[in-house]
Amino acid sequence: MSHHNSLRIINASVLDIAQGIILAERTILVRDGLITEVAESSSAAELLPDEEILDAKGKIVMPGLIDGHVHTLASTADLGGLASWSPNYAAAHASRLMKDMLHRGFTTVRDVAGADYGLAQAVEEGLFIGPRVVFGGKALSQTGGHGDLRARGSSFQDDHQCCPSISIICDGVDAVRKGARDQLRTGANHVKIMLSGGVASPTDRVDSTQFSDEEIRAVVEEAHAANRYVTGHAYTARAVNRGLRLGVRCIEHGNNIDDESVGLFVETGSYLVPTLITYERLKIDGVKNGLSESSHEKVDFVLNAGLEALARATKGGVKVVFGTDLLGDMQQYQSEEFRIRAQVQTPLEVLRSATLTAAELMSMEGQVGVIAPGAFADLLVMNENPLDDVTVLSAPDTSIAVIVKGGVVVQR
Ligand code: ZN
Ligand code: ZN
Repeated sequence: MSHHNSLRIINASVLDIAQGIILAERTILVRDGLITEVAESSSAAELLPDEEILDAKGKIVMPGLIDGHVHTLASTADLGGLASWSPNYAAAHASRLMKDMLHRGFTTVRDVAGADYGLAQAVEEGLFIGPRVVFGGKALSQTGGHGDLRARGSSFQDDHQCCPSISIICDGVDAVRKGARDQLRTGANHVKIMLSGGVASPTDRVDSTQFSDEEIRAVVEEAHAANRYVTGHAYTARAVNRGLRLGVRCIEHGNNIDDESVGLFVETGSYLVPTLITYERLKIDGVKNGLSESSHEKVDFVLNAGLEALARATKGGVKVVFGTDLLGDMQQYQSEEFRIRAQVQTPLEVLRSATLTAAELMSMEGQVGVIAPGAFADLLVMNENPLDDVTVLSAPDTSIAVIVKGGVVVQR
């Protein structure tokens, strides 16, 4: 990808999310996509002849946002149907969804089922306009688990890598080991497993636990061997606590966690990625978006508990990451997660979850979620200060003046 060679952002009030303060009158220098200097205006390096200048006077400059739970491939909520689409057609939709995410200020996304190395590569090479994609490939599910998308009467699911399904079915230690290795060999940043039932799956109970202890241990072992980690989809305390005890390092959703869960998160240094907006939207217009009636009936179980879980985790000192998990046309509501979280978290807590903590989870500290020398030049020039009111990020069209990704100004 051809980066603009050099960019200079002047008169910037830089939002330092680690300290929770605004650093006034800064100059940010960008060379070949990376931030090289953040200096007080008077002491910045000399202007280069071909340098592009962006005047941020009166604006707040903050790091680009990270969404820690997306499905770039899920342009429909009918995930079973998606599996039989042409992969090219699915990729075309993914390209549209990713561009929209970038336009909301998300410059990095963590895809936790569906995106493969191809989507990440297409963005990296500039073929698709979108956020950096940190992917895990296909999720691992047991037969009859959250990633088993077959109806009761069907016995076939095509797990071929080229099918745009978001998961594969594997049972037994050898099969899950191979499943994990298959994702890791494609360059996966994490391995996703289904630890409990879910909403969008046709045949499981939300309150079930999935995979045996031995199977979970095998996946954890494979991920650790590759210096990667396992993240697990789970709702109930029973499923979450079991996963954390078996070495799973991150939990997706966690709507129904208890105090014991909070203790385990803290003790093991594990991460929680709540995804609250998706339940609100599934309740309102899930069926219209292809969600089956039986799935729709499961939404209530997780909807109300989610906010309470976030409050409980935050209070207990759990490392919380921002996530959304929207499917189909509901993806347009991605930014509304900020509005929901602001009910129980301070602006700084929300901002950290969508920048520093998310970067830490992905082992990308210093590269994303921060404005510092050596980081990718992923920045938002804000009309409003999210440190005063983080819900301004729920209206990105008005609150974000300019989006910069990899040193390039994004055309909206
Ligand atoms: Zn999930
Ligand atoms: Zn998800």
